[in-house]
Amino acid sequence: MTRDRRNADVIVIGGGIHGCSTALHCAMRGLSVILIEKDHAGRHASGVNAGGVRQLARHVAEIPLSNASMALWHDIAELVDDDCGFTSDGQVLVAEDEADLEGCRARVADLTLRGFHHEEMIDARELRAIVPAVSETCPGGVISRRDGAAIPLRATQAFKRKAESLGATIREGVRVTKVEKDGSNWRVTTDAGAFLAPRIVNAAGAWADRIASDLGEPVPLEVIAPMLMITAPLPAFIKPVVILRGRKLSFKQFDNGTVLIGGGHLGTPLRDENVTLLDWRKLAISAGTVWDLFPIMRGAPVVRAWAGIEARMPDDLPVFGKSARHEGAYHQFGFSAHGFQLGPGAGAVMAEIIATGRSNVPIDGLDIARFTTTH
Ligand SMILES: Cc1cc2nc3c(=O)[nH]c(=O)nc-3n(C[C@H](O)[C@H](O)[C@H](O)COP(=O)(O)OP(=O)(O)OC[C@H]3O[C@@H](n4cnc5c(N)ncnc54)[C@H](O)[C@@H]3O)c2cc1C
Repeated sequence: MTRDRRNADVIVIGGGIHGCSTALHCAMRGLSVILIEKDHAGRHASGVNAGGVRQLARHVAEIPLSNASMALWHDIAELVDDDCGFTSDGQVLVAEDEADLEGCRARVADLTLRGFHHEEMIDARELRAIVPAVSETCPGGVISRRDGAAIPLRATQAFKRKAESLGATIREGVRVTKVEKDGSNWRVTTDAGAFLAPRIVNAAGAWADRIASDLGEPVPLEVIAPMLMITAPLPAFIKPVVILRGRKLSFKQFDNGTVLIGGGHLGTPLRDENVTLLDWRKLAISAGTVWDLFPIMRGAPVVRAWAGIEARMPDDLPVFGKSARHEGAYHQFGFSAHGFQLGPGAGAVMAEIIATGRSNVPIDGLDIARFTTTH
């Protein structure tokens, strides 16, 4: 029975979109996999995020990974037998004034020089054609046309199911308490006994610093709780996801008319209790920003708010790739509130690195050594 399996080629710690994607791609490469998740797959950031699938406004170091992922999102049903609610109506970054717009121009020019063409400038006329409800004062912005959104829990569960159907063993409700070397294997001790594998992947999200410490690679991971809120249904007024350049705001209208508002204001995470506390004053700031720029939203009732527990690194970039200290250990965490889009591609690249030792997708600047060498 695969459920009782204790040995595998690869043990993945963490059942978020990253762990599930890596488990799936390892299984697709013929590796035996055990994924261990302390709660259930998608219980944390991967199941409660805003579902934004964006290449727009990413740090250049993660654009190659993001590009690899976007190709998979556009064929997601082929990969996981479920369209994950993925729709692609683009994402638009709105400049609020000329200074903002100048920053956008500099960014797009820099990307073009680096050979990336997914971000395009749009002027005030095109902005209003794509986002008719935007305030008259906004002079333009940037669009990434292939971006979109998906349903987070559905997507994460689809990756889990597909991995399982290809032979991966998924152990939910099992907590990893220790990771240590045992001959040529890793011994992964849990509250349901020990598991052994020559390769392990640390995809433990906001808890990944503990696994990294077990490996002698402490990292300055900050646990954060990004907040979201959703309104009652409004008449349809926008298709793309909108983000602001200057202020903390992103929002998206669903087909049922409700509007999801997020963008970076933080609540308080209590990671050992699996609990988050909302900060209603900061949520009111997000609401005020929407009201300013989208007059149509004034008076829209907010019906629900929540937060998720997420790992943020000091440079807002993930820790991704081989351990700096050990053969057979790999890190995939610290996605700093923008890792959902990266999930499908990061899993594919991680499985390639595990199986072949390398990947053609550049991941320079994401390795754990950038932190461990300074500790
Ligand atoms: C409110 C919010 C909005 C966001 N919006 C977006 C967005 O629009 N677009 C975007 O791209 N990103 C977004 N993000 C970020 C994105 O959700 C995360 O970057 C991504 O989901 C991280 O995935 P993960 O698999 O690394 O982590 P997680 O989903 O946190 O998964 C890690 C898993 O590891 C498990 N685990 C930890 N320790 C152990 C252990 N010891 N034993 C067993 N299991 C363990 C945890 O229980 C958890 O399920 C948002 C995040 C939040 C919170």
